[in-house]
Amino acid sequence: MRLKKLELYGFKSFAQRTEIILNEGITAIVGPNGSGKSNIGDAVRWVLGEQSARTLRGTSMQDVIFNGTEKRKPLSYCEVSLVFDNEDRALPLDYAEVMVTRRLYRTGESEYYLNRASCRLKDVVDLFRDTGIGKEGYSIIGQGRIDEILSPKGEDRRLVFEEAAGIVKFRARKEEADRKLAHTLDNMSRVDDILDELNRRLEPLEEQAKNARVYLELSEELKHLDLNLFLIRSDRMEAKLRDLDSELQSMRAVLEQADQTLQEKAEKRDALQGEIAALEEKISDAHQAAMDGMEALHQARDAARAVEDRRARRAENRERTQAETAAAEQRLAELERLFAESESGGGERDRLIREKEETLAAAQRAEEEAR
Ligand code: ATP
Repeated sequence: MRLKKLELYGFKSFAQRTEIILNEGITAIVGPNGSGKSNIGDAVRWVLGEQSARTLRGTSMQDVIFNGTEKRKPLSYCEVSLVFDNEDRALPLDYAEVMVTRRLYRTGESEYYLNRASCRLKDVVDLFRDTGIGKEGYSIIGQGRIDEILSPKGEDRRLVFEEAAGIVKFRARKEEADRKLAHTLDNMSRVDDILDELNRRLEPLEEQAKNARVYLELSEELKHLDLNLFLIRSDRMEAKLRDLDSELQSMRAVLEQADQTLQEKAEKRDALQGEIAALEEKISDAHQAAMDGMEALHQARDAARAVEDRRARRAENRERTQAETAAAEQRLAELERLFAESESGGGERDRLIREKEETLAAAQRAEEEAR
């Protein structure tokens, strides 16, 4: 398995899209200090999943994105791809060439691709496990790492040799199994604790169970007694109900009788009320008749008074006419005397006599009328 090509865009000092072809044999990159040689190693480590900004010589992961120069604007993302020859299928993928890509945006969003298909970081890590290419692999030996390999301390060299021997995978599995075992032992000791606890509680629980059994027996007896009590009460209630029913029946009969009496009384009352009304009408008629009688009496009295008045007036008239008649008779006597005195008076005297006789007749008529 061989790294064939490296493609960089926006990674650290590589603002321009850059392709580094690694041919057969050894490829060496040379340049003055600070020209960006180590940035290439960082790029390889970064694609393989490096998560530590410090290892990549920055303070945050976004520091790997080209941050501009006097002449160039900063970029919004960076992308690095490694292309491996996989003719020998050293990588467990059925492709002759495998391209691994990592992309990072300034927003912090990170993406991984295998042959341009989106994937997870775990897929990339799993792909390179035990190939020596992982980010901790012996294939990338940065400045200072040489010391680690040459260190007299076995522990320091161990990781490098284990990776080379391809046992990291098994070590990881063993560690996982150890973790599970520890977890299971932990669980077992917890189960033991629980068992101890349960054993400690067994005695009081037995006591409680005994009490519970007694309680159940007693409550069963109580239930039985309750039932009996209920039946007795129910019998009594039924007898009482029967008594009340018959009492109710007799009360109903009394009530019916009373209803009938009430009905008769009401009828009688209605009849009496009719009689009272007739009597009242009669009284009213009598009263009216009395009123009419009084009225007639008043009128009769008035008429009597008027007759009395008329009688008085007639008496007056009679007296006056009698006086007038007396005066007329006196006058007539006078005239007769005068007639006698003037027997020789002729026609004049006759006329006067007739006149006087007419006057006398009129006076007599008037007296008659007045009478
Ligand atoms: P040395 O000989 O010191 O190891 P080198 O040639 O390996 O140097 P690097 O350390 O790889 O050089 O590169 C450092 C250069 O990369 C510096 O000039 C730095 O300005 C530039 N650089 C690092 N990060 C960025 C970035 N995010 N944007 C632009 N330039 C960057």
